[in-house]
Amino acid sequence: MTVEGMAFHQGSKILLKDAKVGVMTHALHYGTAAFEGIRGNWNSDNNNMVIFRLREHYERLLRGAKILRMNLPYTADELSEITVDLVKSNGYKQDVYIRPLAYKSHELVANLKLHELDDDLSIIVIPFGAYIDNDKPINCQTSSWRRPEDTMMPTGVKLSGLYTTSILAKTEAVSANFDEAILLNFDGTVSEGSGENLFMIKNNEIITPTETDNCLLGITRDSIIEIAEKELGLNVIERKIHRSELYLAEEVFLTGTAAHVTAVGTLDSRKIGTGSIGTITKKLQDLYFSIVIGNDSVKKNADYSKWLTSFSI
Ligand code: PMP
Repeated sequence: MTVEGMAFHQGSKILLKDAKVGVMTHALHYGTAAFEGIRGNWNSDNNNMVIFRLREHYERLLRGAKILRMNLPYTADELSEITVDLVKSNGYKQDVYIRPLAYKSHELVANLKLHELDDDLSIIVIPFGAYIDNDKPINCQTSSWRRPEDTMMPTGVKLSGLYTTSILAKTEAVSANFDEAILLNFDGTVSEGSGENLFMIKNNEIITPTETDNCLLGITRDSIIEIAEKELGLNVIERKIHRSELYLAEEVFLTGTAAHVTAVGTLDSRKIGTGSIGTITKKLQDLYFSIVIGNDSVKKNADYSKWLTSFSI
């Protein structure tokens, strides 16, 4: 394993410690950036790295870059190739988190525009364990912060600026001894967690907010919808959810690249269902974990290898 991490920065692979930007950088002042969070899962049985839905992450990054009027000289496939090479160079034989950041790199402040500015892209790879302990249900709080509406800032892509709200919400929740925040929309319906999409189970149906409920179009969310339909034969409904519906749901869980599938045990000090990990949540957790690591021993109805980029280190 290499002692020092490598980054992709300003068009080439360099030592992570040398990947720096100047204090005048536009994105640092105004949040004019889009990023991704991608997981590489280390499969110790097969001795290989398995990156989950790499291409889809870069497609979302490029959608964010388009909204920010960036001219990046890479396709999703090229970015995927650069990433595989970078992960190999870093040499970690453990789970990793890959963070690409596309940003307005122009060193120009007092300049409130997107056009006629330089853009750049950096990618870093860090060793990464559990973001949330998925073995137990978490305690959530409805945030006093609201999820921005798409009319205020585009919400379906991972724009850096959006994360001020997520961070305010998570800080409020953790400071009050909760694990995670659930954010409502301006109209009071449910949007998502600070860094996760939300699902609830009611009468054997899985319900999740729609794109127009301002949630991020999560790649885990998309995967769970497909797995729930194909593997568990469940009907997935995308619709508005009232806050109080969550209190009465049989199960609530959160999904995200970092959080995987995490059961919500309580919300605003009310038990969800029995308060432990629900039956459907547990089944989805087990299926999801076996899929992201490329484990074939759990029998599945469909082939999910289309989602995996596997290679040895
Ligand atoms: N919502 C927000 C606000 C997030 O930051 C994330 C994490 N990327 C998600 C949802 C889940 O998205 P994904 O499954 O693509 O990681």
